[in-house]
Amino acid sequence: MTPFPGRSAASAGPAHAHSVDRLLTRRLDEALARPAAQQPCWPDPERASAVIERLRHAEPIVAPDETARLSEQLASVARGEAFLLQGGDCAETFVDNTETHLRANLRILSQMATVLTSATGVPVVEIARMAGQYAKPRSAVVDASGLPVYRGDIINSTEPTPTARTPDPQRMLRARAHAADAMDMVRRIRAGAAHISHEMLLLDYERAGLWADACGPGTRLTSGLAHFLWIGERTRQLDGAHVAVAELIANPIGLKLGPSVTPELAVEYVERLDPHCTPGRLTLVSRMGHHLVRDVLPPIVEKVTASGHQVVWQCDPMHGNTRQSANGFKTRHVDHVVDELAGFFEVHRGLGTHPGGIHVEVTGEDVTECLGGASGTAERDLPARYRTACDPRLNADQSLELARFVAELLTT
Ligand code: PEP
Ligand code: MN
Repeated sequence: MTPFPGRSAASAGPAHAHSVDRLLTRRLDEALARPAAQQPCWPDPERASAVIERLRHAEPIVAPDETARLSEQLASVARGEAFLLQGGDCAETFVDNTETHLRANLRILSQMATVLTSATGVPVVEIARMAGQYAKPRSAVVDASGLPVYRGDIINSTEPTPTARTPDPQRMLRARAHAADAMDMVRRIRAGAAHISHEMLLLDYERAGLWADACGPGTRLTSGLAHFLWIGERTRQLDGAHVAVAELIANPIGLKLGPSVTPELAVEYVERLDPHCTPGRLTLVSRMGHHLVRDVLPPIVEKVTASGHQVVWQCDPMHGNTRQSANGFKTRHVDHVVDELAGFFEVHRGLGTHPGGIHVEVTGEDVTECLGGASGTAERDLPARYRTACDPRLNADQSLELARFVAELLTT
């Protein structure tokens, strides 16, 4: 593989490698020249460029054969033969990049997977939100105290001071080192069988993680930063850079779809991001909110299905159900999360399509961030162990309850 834009293999390789490389470089440059939402304004662009150049020389974190294996597994999900379980922190942080935390999150994911497979007999494909989930899209540019918002550890710090909130490109190098360490730990803990994912948000970072094998006209770019990348609700503009970059890369891609997406727009996305009709190449992640999913999702599923593309239909029951508690915490109620899942299954059962998977924010730690569940977490309990750097996660008990609920939905 060749770091992209190519150096060694492209210059030493066959003559066509040069033109492949030039063509891809041009297409990538064009993609990156499009408007990109949610990017930081680096105070010193020259320092940022120097960091990007250093990132380009870093070793990839994931191997292409692992990514190819995941693509095959996602094809089986798209065909209705398997179920996709994706989950982890909303925002990973450098300080929590410890073996204890990663073990806890991997453990809850595998316990959820066990609940699902043992109840249904259906194979479960697991993807962790891990080893790179450091960049966050935000709905406001300043926080309640007027400071620039926290945009994830890869950009700035949660600490509420003007200096700490100033975007610092050096953090991209720290993020890359943490991601590599995390991946090493994941491989040790999981003895090789792990897939990792993050939101493809910060384009200065993402572009420096692209590789090309430079061995033919069909060459695509592959991200060495994660097996699976997704585009968020706030960066899915059709004429924007994120969609254009995703078109160029071979990794399986996820796309979050909120309630404003029309069936026609969904089909445009599918045609752009799955031009060769490859089953499982694209995962459509609906995050409609529990009160809208039953109305908004059916025409989208119908129109995409009629287009002939075999996507993975995945439900994110978290992001459409976020609210502020009376005592000032960003939270979600388990009842709403569960209701969105029930709606998602109802829609797919009604249309005869496969409810392919779930995408959840969970941690194996005993946090108090989401309301409800068997332990009855109430608003007054939230301050006790509210630890997330961004959105509220289900704790271990709430996550297992959710898995049992989904297992029931899958068997009825
Ligand atoms: C997320 O997954 O953390 C996220 C920000 O989701 P969305 O883009 O759907 O809001
Ligand atoms: Mn989130």
